[in-house]
Amino acid sequence: MARFDTNKIHAGYNPADHNYAVSVPIYATAAFELGSVERSDEMFSFDSWDPLYSRLSNPTTDALEARLIELHGATAAVSLASGMAAVTYSLLNITAGRGRILTTPRLYGGALDSLTQIFAEGNVFFDFVENPDDPESFRKALAPDTKVIYVESLTNPNATILDIEAIAKIAHEARIPLIVDNTLATPYLLNPFEYGADIVVYSATKGLSGHGNVIAGAVLENKQFRFDSEKFPQFYETPYFLRGRDGKARNYLDVFSDGPFTGRIRAVHLNYLGAALSPFSAYLVLLGIETLSERVQKQVDNAKKIVEYLESKIGKGVLWVKHPSAKENPYQELAKKYFPKGAGAVLSFGLAGDANQRTKFLEAVQIWGFQANIGDAKSLIINPSTTTHTELTPEVQDAADIHAETIRLSLGLEDAQDLIEDLEHAFSVAGLGE
Ligand SMILES: *Cc1c(COP(=O)(O)O)cnc(C)c1O
Repeated sequence: MARFDTNKIHAGYNPADHNYAVSVPIYATAAFELGSVERSDEMFSFDSWDPLYSRLSNPTTDALEARLIELHGATAAVSLASGMAAVTYSLLNITAGRGRILTTPRLYGGALDSLTQIFAEGNVFFDFVENPDDPESFRKALAPDTKVIYVESLTNPNATILDIEAIAKIAHEARIPLIVDNTLATPYLLNPFEYGADIVVYSATKGLSGHGNVIAGAVLENKQFRFDSEKFPQFYETPYFLRGRDGKARNYLDVFSDGPFTGRIRAVHLNYLGAALSPFSAYLVLLGIETLSERVQKQVDNAKKIVEYLESKIGKGVLWVKHPSAKENPYQELAKKYFPKGAGAVLSFGLAGDANQRTKFLEAVQIWGFQANIGDAKSLIINPSTTTHTELTPEVQDAADIHAETIRLSLGLEDAQDLIEDLEHAFSVAGLGE
């Protein structure tokens, strides 16, 4: 097996299987000829994985899944139309209409909101751990019907790091899986499977694709977790449609032996709820992944330079800076362990001054894009408390350590000196920094 940087260019795609096309072809087709009745019977009874209808699979999305599998040393993956589909389908799959989700307030705003807006409707509830920085806090918050621990490896906007190895141990002692949203880290900075994660989800919209030109998501698994326990009957139920050609009843563990979790997402959630990734979008993500390491390395290097600059402005327009590369940051030790290449390219700082000065500051930047996105090749700036995280109640915002003065930056690939000069100009327009 080749190494990461070779896999990101070649894994999961053999040109000889596609008319020797060098670039992964976009299979713009809804359905595929079944060929013969024999072949059709094989496909409809899950004895063949050839594509038959693009909601379920397509050679372009297959190539993306195969590449992601290699990049993680995973066993199975399913690509989806968005990161939100990846998050919600994973949580729907593990809870199956009952039980509780254990998580932290340091979640993507939409993911957090889905817990109150969708899951509660389906009788699935959630608990926040008291202190996400203390793994024992997860153990204390486990309830008898907790079905999963769900966390982000690196969080937005404050770049906090969760000790996923310790949290995975606690999950496994309770015989439940750990699902990690690894969007901010990308597999270049961190492979959560190496630290005990059972399921890894992505918004590929962000750093994975990296150019702010596509909405996409993915779920991966590594077959380590035992789903055949009394907590998860949904995986060993034998729905009629899974029966073999001999009529024998089969469950998800039989049919999707390399990946019962993503197999069930494909057969149930993708099939019936339908958030299929378009082949064109899959192509854009594949293209982005070809330069993942080079982009993310420059982005984390840029982040360090911006952190240094912002720290030099403390007391002169800046109240505080939050990123593990900052001088006084409680996540430095965890960063050494989990993020030796750099703890991501999203950071936050406190902007001094009043609301009027914040407005002036945000409107004065010229290179930084003012938009609700991260992980783009372009550097982005935003005020989370009234934009990306505005749906959170003041109490939850507080718990997530997001305040009116919080400004989030997502570093792109520009020259760091230009980015610094752009901020310097904005500080002076806002009347800060003298
Ligand atoms: C953006 C994001 C999502 C949602 O992804 P979409 O592709 O926008 O649906 C989920 N988790 C994290 C951490 C994100 O940053």
